[in-house]
Amino acid sequence: MLPQPVSDRDAMEMAITEMEKCAGETKVGAVLVVKGKVVGAAGKGQRHAERTAIEMAQAAGVKVRGGTLYTTLEPCVDLAEGQEIASCARFLVEAGIKRVLIGSYDPNPLVRRQGWRHLNAEKVKVEDFSDDLHQRIVVLNEKFSEGFIRRIGPNGGGKVRHKDGATYEVQFSADDPRVARLKWGFRGEGKKSVYAYGDVAQVPYVNSFTDIGNPNACGPFGRYMTLNEGEFGVFRTEVAFVLVKVTEIAAGPDVYFVEFKFSVRLRA
Ligand SMILES: [Zn+2]
Repeated sequence: MLPQPVSDRDAMEMAITEMEKCAGETKVGAVLVVKGKVVGAAGKGQRHAERTAIEMAQAAGVKVRGGTLYTTLEPCVDLAEGQEIASCARFLVEAGIKRVLIGSYDPNPLVRRQGWRHLNAEKVKVEDFSDDLHQRIVVLNEKFSEGFIRRIGPNGGGKVRHKDGATYEVQFSADDPRVARLKWGFRGEGKKSVYAYGDVAQVPYVNSFTDIGNPNACGPFGRYMTLNEGEFGVFRTEVAFVLVKVTEIAAGPDVYFVEFKFSVRLRA
């Protein structure tokens, strides 16, 4: 049993223990402490860890108002107006949690630090885990973070773990900080093909990027495409095309990735 009142350090370590028990690739652990006592502890399962930890305490009749939450990943935020199920950030503010300690920030550049921002704006006291514990979390969640990698073009290659979806940022060039986002999705166990999302088109019959004259003529463009190993495709943005060739796909049972080469062409 943990001593009472439990220290911040003990509660942070307990959150990491909960994180380690998670089965999925995105591991998150959360611990709720009220009046120096651990009243909820959970890992990410069907529901988010923070919510589960709070609901666990509430179900046991604990008044969680004024409590402190320790979470290995910053709480999620509402991404759509009037979202039906409240995000963890909103949920814990409504539950009256007064202090939150965060072990790491979301690797997705589109939402990074938004949980922090929401809590801070709601006058919740937000603190970071100590750095040695943060480093442990980073190592544990390497696979989650691998999904968000940025490479500098115009030409290069990438490899991402796509099991739960992955976004790969390609910066146009060393001198041009604009980026295109290549989104990859999983098609199923053992399938040697992947989904690519965005404004995309598959390009049949070509053998190299130089075989592709005008990428815009490669359509029809759609919101997703399926690419097999060895196949070519185009991601289109308002200002550029990113040509891709899928070179290798691993779809389980233990290893998951899509490996590809890319080439950026600015639109005239
Ligand atoms: Zn959440």
